[in-house]
Amino acid sequence: MFIDVDSRDVTIHSAHDAMRVNGLKGKAQTRRKSLNDSLEGDIRDFLINESELHTYDDLTKVNPVTPTTVLKCLQARYSAKVFYTHAGCTLVALNPFQPIPHLYSLDVMREYHSASQPQDFKPHIFIVAEEAYRNVQGQVEPTNQSLVVSGESGAGKTWTSRCLMKYYATVAASSQKCQHTVEKIERRVLDSNPLMEAFGNACTLRNNNSSRFGKYIQLQLNSSQLLVGASVQTYLLEKTRVAFQAPNERNFHIFYQMMKGAKEKQRLDWMLPLDQAFAWLPHADKNLEEDCLQETVVAMVNLGIDEEKRAQIFKILAGLLQLGNVDFSPASEESQSCDLEENSKGFLQKTAVLLQVPVEELQTYLVVRTLRAGKQNVLKPCSQTECTIRRDCLAKVIYAQLFEWLVTFINNSMCADRSMWCNFIGLLDVYGFECFLLNNLEQLCINYANEKLQQHFVAHYLKAQQEEYVSEGLQWSFIRYQDNQACLDLIEGSPTSIFSLLNEECRLNRTSDAKQFRVRLEKELSGNANISWDKFSKEPHFTVAHYAGKVSYRIEGMMEKNKDPVPPELIHVLQKSQNALLHGLFDESDSGGSRGHNKVVTVVSKFKNSLESLMKILYSTTPHYTRCIKPNPDCRPLTFQKEEVITQLEACGIVETINISAAGFPIRIPYGSFLQRYGLITNTLLNRDDGPEMSDPSVLRSAVEDVLNVVLKRHAPSSTLSPDDNNNMVHCGR
Ligand code: ADP
Ligand code: MG
Repeated sequence: MFIDVDSRDVTIHSAHDAMRVNGLKGKAQTRRKSLNDSLEGDIRDFLINESELHTYDDLTKVNPVTPTTVLKCLQARYSAKVFYTHAGCTLVALNPFQPIPHLYSLDVMREYHSASQPQDFKPHIFIVAEEAYRNVQGQVEPTNQSLVVSGESGAGKTWTSRCLMKYYATVAASSQKCQHTVEKIERRVLDSNPLMEAFGNACTLRNNNSSRFGKYIQLQLNSSQLLVGASVQTYLLEKTRVAFQAPNERNFHIFYQMMKGAKEKQRLDWMLPLDQAFAWLPHADKNLEEDCLQETVVAMVNLGIDEEKRAQIFKILAGLLQLGNVDFSPASEESQSCDLEENSKGFLQKTAVLLQVPVEELQTYLVVRTLRAGKQNVLKPCSQTECTIRRDCLAKVIYAQLFEWLVTFINNSMCADRSMWCNFIGLLDVYGFECFLLNNLEQLCINYANEKLQQHFVAHYLKAQQEEYVSEGLQWSFIRYQDNQACLDLIEGSPTSIFSLLNEECRLNRTSDAKQFRVRLEKELSGNANISWDKFSKEPHFTVAHYAGKVSYRIEGMMEKNKDPVPPELIHVLQKSQNALLHGLFDESDSGGSRGHNKVVTVVSKFKNSLESLMKILYSTTPHYTRCIKPNPDCRPLTFQKEEVITQLEACGIVETINISAAGFPIRIPYGSFLQRYGLITNTLLNRDDGPEMSDPSVLRSAVEDVLNVVLKRHAPSSTLSPDDNNNMVHCGR
């Protein structure tokens, strides 16, 4: 039987049928007199006891499970300063936006780690951590684990991932157990965080320390469950940020760290006088604790980046700051070519010195490009806009390659030899679902990744739920859940999808404009119900119905972003660099230096491939989901805004989870409690001498069946029950 109550109706579904008790208002005067009324009142009391809402540790116990009750429960818990709540096999984490003393202390870690049943403790990220840790050993065979942390920007994903890493670095490498080398590895794993955050995080409107890349870190454990190494894979660094910062946002932290933290000698080496303003360094006056150069340098040292390499890194970064101040004048009539703005010459000179490249060539190829005419190369002057684009491309490609190099270095420093480790626990911290006023290729990729993760989650959740029913001996015909395959087909499917059409533009080197591309999309994809068009909008765009909501994507610029072109002449200039690191980043003989070749790998192809390997790993592991929620948009401490939260519950799929659980048995009532409340229906009184023996489950079960038979016969004559033989529970479901 499934009991589904919303604010107006009480719905009781049987295993095969459903009945609706409409319009029940309030309790009856006496129980005997009006059974229906009393039943409804009791159900309501049982189901939503508002004063106790904060005590519900698991949202699936909140009955009925609706977005409203889930929201109320979370709000009550937040007010009571309880930040973690289970939602079946998912953990919901509300961001307190202020340090909570002792919540993550070593003592608390040890408590959860040493508990025989950590799941009996208060919900906490450490329960998830510990469960995964114990699962790794596995009862039958060891299994790799994945902890998937999702949520929107500022919700607490990175904080949670850091917490998890600290947990494992503590419990899997306690000082008595491990040798010196392990301790060192533990330090390196933890130090990879501030280092990657310095280069990959930035202050945005939504989070002062927003990660501008996704990451999956695998913690490698040996047969004694000790942490012996780690490896990290990153996704979609938002490299545009190096050359463009939206109003009130900042560039990556590392630039501010340098500007603020440089010692006198460094300031000279990096050509960074304190009074110099940089176009690519907006809001340098903001004081963030992330602006700490010292911490980044210590992390670099611990990870083994020596002084020489550090000097090379910082010079490259300083060169980029100078490059950002290089501007171009409009093309003169007679030469038809642009030149540098007069006061940009000094900045270009400094760029060349810092990047250690020939200044004349750098200048030339910023303002002209080579064209192939027959067998010859001819030089063609660029327009002012083209020059600016070339400058930005140069900065982006340098920064992206540098970031990639850093990640490879970190991996080499942390990764244990394959023979050293048996299993891993993977932590996934990726961008959540995004829907802005203007969405483009970046959002499409991010939302596509979230569709993939949602599909994985649904598959896992349904499987886990079904296994539970089987283990409890319930009769259960599996209802196939409508998954999001159609949306994924629309985005990435073959032969025709948004991605394939974008790639075709690139492959054929077509220069379609946005309108032409929209027509092509409409022609090829109109069969898919997940895409739509607003024919009257001024700007060409398409709308995708994602599982978390509709998102409208602007087509303008999308094809160019997918090509992500880099002027080859500028790559050749970089290859001449005397800075060994920069030279290495673009060295053609080294497969690591991957830019500047003819073969174009589009952004979506690359992303799709890396996501596919990630999904392969996820499907081969036991997943644990944590959904982080940002309770208000302004990062204000202990402030809960309902509209904000409900939107996120929808976007991160909690409401979906509820829908799935509604296809199953969302209400579980112990026989005893059930009889205490409804026994009156059959005059079965538990506490009377002639009442059923409480300790005998079969007697209780039979009494429960009697009650339910009366109710169901009255309201849904064709219904049957699905009693649970193993757990002495009444399971209610459709
Ligand atoms: P995301 O990675 O989801 O964008 P972050 O993990 O960077 O978000 O969290 C944003 C900010 O919220 C953090 O810088 C921190 O100030 C705060 N925060 C997040 N989780 C917690 C927590 N559990 N306790 C206290 N503060 C937190
Ligand atoms: Mg983050």
